[in-house]
Amino acid sequence: MGGATGDGGAVIAELVAGHVLDVPDFPQPGVMFKDLTPLFADGEAFRSVVDSIVDHHGPDGFDTVVGIEARGFVLAAAVAYATGVGVVPVRKAGKLPRETVEASYRLEYGEATLQLHADAFTAGERVLVLDDVLATGGTAEATLRLVEEAGGVVAGLSVVIELSFLKGREKLTDRSVHALLTL
Ligand code: AMP
Repeated sequence: MGGATGDGGAVIAELVAGHVLDVPDFPQPGVMFKDLTPLFADGEAFRSVVDSIVDHHGPDGFDTVVGIEARGFVLAAAVAYATGVGVVPVRKAGKLPRETVEASYRLEYGEATLQLHADAFTAGERVLVLDDVLATGGTAEATLRLVEEAGGVVAGLSVVIELSFLKGREKLTDRSVHALLTL
């Protein structure tokens, strides 16, 4: 350990690094899955992560929080509760019951579609988007587009871990990306 870095400084980066488990070849061969369940399960560490995200954006820096299915939901609910704002889910296709806006993006094999309720935001609402891992950036980029299509203004994107070798930030050049641990 030691030497961990991220946009929230070394202390929180080290904390995240100490609570993530690397699972090789999950969910498919060649992928090193970053399992954050040990971080979520540790009350003190989880609170530090949530506080660090809130500190970065400022408690008045956003009006609502979006969580990306499924691990983004865990973060989004906690940040929303901590700051007294609401939480909105971005879900995989076919899960939301009412009219949606949707965005499709490329995966390594095939395509994925995300959906958001069309009436999720009032016009101009400032939206903070949260997910656990930024990999190629396709998921985040599609989500930010959806937020704007639904009338929101993207206030920022925070992730716990960024896999920089997959160059997700390059898909998000005009966006503010905040990663607590950059690998
Ligand atoms: P991407 O669209 O490539 O940036 O992938 C990001 C989404 O896939 C996030 O919702 C992550 O939860 C998940 N993901 C991608 N790669 C990993 C990984 N190595 N470990 C854990 N989750 C991952």
